[in-house]
Amino acid sequence: MVSSTVSKQVASKQAASKQAASPTPAYICPYDRTCTYLGQAGIDLQIDPNVLRILEQPRKVVTVSIPVKLDSGEVEVVAGHRVQHCDILGPYKGGTRYHPAVSLQELSALAMLMTWKCALLGIPYGGAKGGIAINPARYSVGELERITRRYASELIKDIGPEVDIPAPDIGTSAREMAWIMDTYSMNVGHAVPGVVTGKPLSIGGSKGRQMATGLGVAIAIREMLSERGLSLAGSKIAIQGFGKVGGAAATLLHEAGAKIVAVSDGGGGIFAGGGLDIPALKQYAARNNRRIKGFPGGEPVSNWELLALSCDVLVPAALEDQITEDNADRVQAQIVAEAANAPITLVADQMLEERGITVIPDILTNAGGVVVSYLEWVQGQSYVFWDEERVNQEMEGLMVRAYHRVSQKARELKIPMRRAAYMLAVGRVAEAAGDRGLYP
Ligand code: GLU
Repeated sequence: MVSSTVSKQVASKQAASKQAASPTPAYICPYDRTCTYLGQAGIDLQIDPNVLRILEQPRKVVTVSIPVKLDSGEVEVVAGHRVQHCDILGPYKGGTRYHPAVSLQELSALAMLMTWKCALLGIPYGGAKGGIAINPARYSVGELERITRRYASELIKDIGPEVDIPAPDIGTSAREMAWIMDTYSMNVGHAVPGVVTGKPLSIGGSKGRQMATGLGVAIAIREMLSERGLSLAGSKIAIQGFGKVGGAAATLLHEAGAKIVAVSDGGGGIFAGGGLDIPALKQYAARNNRRIKGFPGGEPVSNWELLALSCDVLVPAALEDQITEDNADRVQAQIVAEAANAPITLVADQMLEERGITVIPDILTNAGGVVVSYLEWVQGQSYVFWDEERVNQEMEGLMVRAYHRVSQKARELKIPMRRAAYMLAVGRVAEAAGDRGLYP
């Protein structure tokens, strides 16, 4: 199903480039794309179509209206959402995104990706995602606190340590998680640290959580390079994004001896063929309103140019839909590690595959964050807290084992890693769905 749909689109794209008047392939949004990958896993595993029909839909979608008193005294009303895709394996789990592009359709895709990510890593959670369509940079800290607390109190019946456990995502951090934890706790009348993960250490956060997604990305890349007889040391890596994920990955990969030839943020990128001085770039960004523009240790490069740079590994670590049918033929890296969720469109994925470029899929590459969220939750539930070394070791073990399960299946069946990852993840959820049966 995937192959035939995509092949048709690739063929139509090729025809379109020869014949300018031909239509370009229809855009397939991340949600439909994720359903397509699910459908392929259904065929590969011969899953009961009744089960697939259930897994295609989010189980619950909550939209709340959030009136917020701005510092000016004016009241603005913003919409907040939480999409709960599936809780067959355990409580819903997933981040909270504050970004102007947040929509129900985007969150539905991201929630479904969380289901597969948790299942693939073997952690006992389902998938969810929440968000508010705002640009957090346009609000004061006080306004953001009021927005977050009202959002949390509107969701009070839908979240909880055994129900649905939010975490940080784009535009949110430990600060917002502390506000959610406090609001939830005040409402139920006692402290409930387990209602969120990615919270500050002072209220039961885990050591290692901040760098976790970036560390997981570095581990996935390291494993793939070592399978090919290569190592991180000396490898050339370009990273789109320099935030919580891209910035942490850049730091850790740089420390491991990789040459980070380019990084970017929303304002553009910086390139240095011999490798950027990442600690200096971090310091520069910290002094420059978290922007890397103007960094003297490299040349400016656009986000678009970054994706086409000559390098060994390309790491899209920003938003969805970055590698598309318009630029997939320019990617020069041999490996693309999806640190962002859904950064490659369906047609682009097929184009990369046809060019022999290996994609390490998002549900594997960026799972380090939710894995350490799980470890944070486990520590909280057992009231025993570990040192950073233990947290990182446990996470590395889960990441490495998941990586090799995917890689082995892909090799055995001669299929792309994404298809193998979906087979493993969807297979687990479908088996549990069968065992639980349909209520009533
Ligand atoms: N937002 C992160 C993700 O997309 C982490 C989610 C979590 O820790 O629950 O994987």
